[in-house]
Amino acid sequence: MFSYRHAYHAGNHADVLKHTILISIVQYMAQKEVGFTVVDTHAGAGIYRLDSDAAELSKEADEGLRQLLKSAAAKGTELEEMLGEYIQELERFNPSGSLKIYPGSPMIAHDYLRRQDKLKLFELHPTDSRMLEKHIEQLRAGRQINCYKEDGFEGLKKLLPPPTRRGLVLMDPSYEMKSDYARVIGCIQDGLRRFVTGTFMIWYPVIARPEAHDLPRRLKALAQEVGKPWLHATLRIKSGQMGSQLDVLGTNNSPKRPGLAASGVFIINQPHTLKDQLKVSLPQMVDLMGQDALAGFTLESGV
Ligand code: SAM
Repeated sequence: MFSYRHAYHAGNHADVLKHTILISIVQYMAQKEVGFTVVDTHAGAGIYRLDSDAAELSKEADEGLRQLLKSAAAKGTELEEMLGEYIQELERFNPSGSLKIYPGSPMIAHDYLRRQDKLKLFELHPTDSRMLEKHIEQLRAGRQINCYKEDGFEGLKKLLPPPTRRGLVLMDPSYEMKSDYARVIGCIQDGLRRFVTGTFMIWYPVIARPEAHDLPRRLKALAQEVGKPWLHATLRIKSGQMGSQLDVLGTNNSPKRPGLAASGVFIINQPHTLKDQLKVSLPQMVDLMGQDALAGFTLESGV
């Protein structure tokens, strides 16, 4: 337990997919005056350095964010709306122009909140939770943000439904333990019971594990049981490796791994605008970060 550190993965293609979607959802929620709550059940450290030893060792941002920008410049491609907004958000953290700082989901979500909105963050790793608290303190956001050094799967229960009945739950576990897959399902099932109109966004790795393969199918069944809309997007940047989870996701002291080839995001009660946005942004992600003929995306939705 706790060999996963997001510092090794910050800015990879999975972060590009996840954070692009996160921004779009939070922007959509902020269009209505009534405040909303974002619960990030697996928040990470909040901010990462792309020139840290961890990032230099894994070089995952080279295949993700850096590749996106490099290809766009080389091909003269103008970034479409979602990716353009994501890059603008990163530029706010890197005013000097060179990309050194990578904001994690808590900092990204915070940037799109208004005074009436709240952010609730769970992080269990002893070091990352301390770093998260430190980064959040610097925002001086007071009671708008709460950090909990608790299990996010368990802790979510006490926060649902949020007081205004408007909210997003981001569930982004490390899947370091096989049991995380079952916990995601249990937690979303319970979450829908408490807050059936809430937006639930789940990230997962597309790897050769039965549990990973089954996860979107089981999430779809949960959404269908309660009659709510769902959207499922996957992004593959290269032919897949068949390694085990940690072979693929890497640990804090592992040598360079082949790296994750594909990941997915499943959303229940998504904004009605998101699918059309993704129809434009996913092909561009493939075009700019794809490495071989197996690079591609899928996008499906239903009720
Ligand atoms: N959401 C972050 C982002 O997008 O910037 C990245 C999160 S990382 C993929 C997953 C995090 O979950 C790790 O920092 C890990 O320490 C933490 N974690 C693992 N199990 C947890 C649990 N049961 N509850 C809360 N945090 C947990």
